[in-house]
Amino acid sequence: MNIGAIRHWVFDMDGTLTLAVHDFAAIRIALGIPAEDDILTYLAALPPEQAAAKHAWLLEHERELAVGATPAPGAVELVRRLAERGCRLGILTRNARELAHITLAAIGVDDCFAVDDIYGRDEAAPKPDPEGLLRIAQRWGVATADMVMVGDYRFDLACGRAAGARTVLVNLPENPWPELADWHAVDCRELLNTLG
Ligand SMILES: [Mg+2]
Repeated sequence: MNIGAIRHWVFDMDGTLTLAVHDFAAIRIALGIPAEDDILTYLAALPPEQAAAKHAWLLEHERELAVGATPAPGAVELVRRLAERGCRLGILTRNARELAHITLAAIGVDDCFAVDDIYGRDEAAPKPDPEGLLRIAQRWGVATADMVMVGDYRFDLACGRAAGARTVLVNLPENPWPELADWHAVDCRELLNTLG
């Protein structure tokens, strides 16, 4: 399949459309989370009061990052080109939806994404769970095989695979997960150039 023929695009946000700024090791230390544990999974297993306090800290920390977000190379141009072509665009992020709005506005593409097409960690089970992608497909009335999930990490690709969507890895010079990625581009600019 030619990637330029795909009309339904879902993007990871942090590190995909923006330059990666999350220091997950520092976040784990601040929240007392073991180095080998997934942050959202760990928080989900805590007693509600403890989880709420740590979620509140995380939200404030990520709010500061959102306000100062900067676009990844070619990300704004890629999103605008797809929007101009009439493609349907969504976001599936492990960040919070309200921070996704702030982030997308900070890099200047918030007008390209309908509010209801942004799925954060409170709208669906976090990636690599495919729930968010399946719900977007249902919302759009499209087969997942006709969608593409674009991301910079294994979870994005695994989520896409599990949902039956196509997958693109960006923002890594090499592809460490060839079994999970249908396409690899060093950045969104290269991806834009392959659209034709
Ligand atoms: Mg990411």
